[in-house]
Amino acid sequence: MSEPLSFELSRPAVDPPRLPDAEVAGPAPADVLPPDALRARPPGLPRLSEPEIMRHYSRMASLNYSISENFYPLGSCTMKYNPVANEVAAALPGFAGLHPYQDEESVQGALELMWRLEQALCAIVGVDRVTLQPAAGAHGEWTALRMIRAYQHSRGEARTEVLVPDSAHGTNPASAALSGFQVVEVKSGGDGRISLADLESKLSPRTSALMLTNPNTLGLFEREILDIAELVHSTGAMLYYDGANLNAFMGICRPGDMGFDAVHMNLHKTFTTPHGGGGPGAGPVGVKTELVPFLPSPTVERTNGHLTFDHKRPQSIGRVRSFYGNFGMLVRAYTYILAMGGDGLSQASQDAVLSANYLRKLVEGDLEMPHDGPCMHEFVASAHDLTTRNGVRALDIAKALLDRDFYAPTVYFPLVVPEAIMVEPTETESKATLDAFARAVKDIVAEARTNPQSLHEEPRKTPVGRLDEVTAARRINAYLQGQSQDPVLRWKAPSEKPS
Ligand SMILES: *Cc1c(COP(=O)(O)O)cnc(C)c1O
Repeated sequence: MSEPLSFELSRPAVDPPRLPDAEVAGPAPADVLPPDALRARPPGLPRLSEPEIMRHYSRMASLNYSISENFYPLGSCTMKYNPVANEVAAALPGFAGLHPYQDEESVQGALELMWRLEQALCAIVGVDRVTLQPAAGAHGEWTALRMIRAYQHSRGEARTEVLVPDSAHGTNPASAALSGFQVVEVKSGGDGRISLADLESKLSPRTSALMLTNPNTLGLFEREILDIAELVHSTGAMLYYDGANLNAFMGICRPGDMGFDAVHMNLHKTFTTPHGGGGPGAGPVGVKTELVPFLPSPTVERTNGHLTFDHKRPQSIGRVRSFYGNFGMLVRAYTYILAMGGDGLSQASQDAVLSANYLRKLVEGDLEMPHDGPCMHEFVASAHDLTTRNGVRALDIAKALLDRDFYAPTVYFPLVVPEAIMVEPTETESKATLDAFARAVKDIVAEARTNPQSLHEEPRKTPVGRLDEVTAARRINAYLQGQSQDPVLRWKAPSEKPS
């Protein structure tokens, strides 16, 4: 079950690929490029016939696991079904064929879509303006922290600390550190929610912001959010909303109404645009009035039905990326929001919460539940007990699920739960799928109790089996310390290999 590289499949008998002559008028490349920028020899592209190439890629695609084939309960990531209607809209030639340097007059429709998407997102999360520039949630966090800092500087305040709960996603402290802030951890209480007492002790005039996910990464709603907001604001700090878990309450309640000043949304989670796989995501950031002057420029403005990019924003933090290369994601998200409507969005969230609670109930006899339910749109179980009694870890359960045709849940996150298994079913899965998943978990836990050794050897059916992480870590360390050759990370042509 593996596929050689196209270079390895290459057959000298096939003619090399022929590229058409350049159709651009003007001098030939060889006449304008410096000699050392010109190839001496043609590139060593693989030589394959068109059907061979097609079959090579189709075989590789069949080795992949994807949401279009099966259940993907990856907690915190909201791996929902990506409706095909979104793809149809994104492929419309007027959208798909846009060029970033086109004149504004010729892209009025695209700007109108961006403007309307901004309006829709403002309404969903309860903020005054939204920037569509950030390319992902993490980029949104960083963008928002820059805006918060610029705002505080404009008031003569130099606040240096950002508070982050111990259950937070790793991007939160990373974004804060990257923006030059000191990261201060806030502890969770026994109920899995932020400890107000600990928060109070960490807040000071140095605090710039508290970054919070609600429901938090344990799938629990921060019930004291209004008190938290009041506490944070009373010290002059701001409240940042990590919107990765927005799928829990779209159309039901709004972070803006809970007192959050800045909010990121992951269009590739909540709003059904595909998760990149290395490609583009989208992490729009919404802000309340005080932060509006600091939004990245340009913003999209609409006056009398005419749309423009506004570059004249003296207090703006500037561009956070060069172009809207992920524009297709914006089209997909807007299509989804229109197709669902307000009622549809709130129904989606209710169904997501129902699915998570149903599944939690089905597996609670097999896995430990460190926190009391009910949960919101996801839950965090623990394999701690199985580890101590049977030597079976969360990782073993995740790998065993792969052999039973399920993608693995998120494991070892959040860090506050030992041997964490984080499951997010989403609203797009049927009861039959949730039942089948619960049966697979039951089956694996039974195997863990009777034949743990067999679990350590799974997965057996995937293209790649259990990776030797210890050896990999040792080799990388040896490489970093200059004690070994580089690890083999890419194919090298025979001419590149040291002789
Ligand atoms: C996914 C996620 C992020 C980061 O979002 P990206 O779009 O992956 O950069 C931040 N916080 C939480 C809780 C997340 O689940």
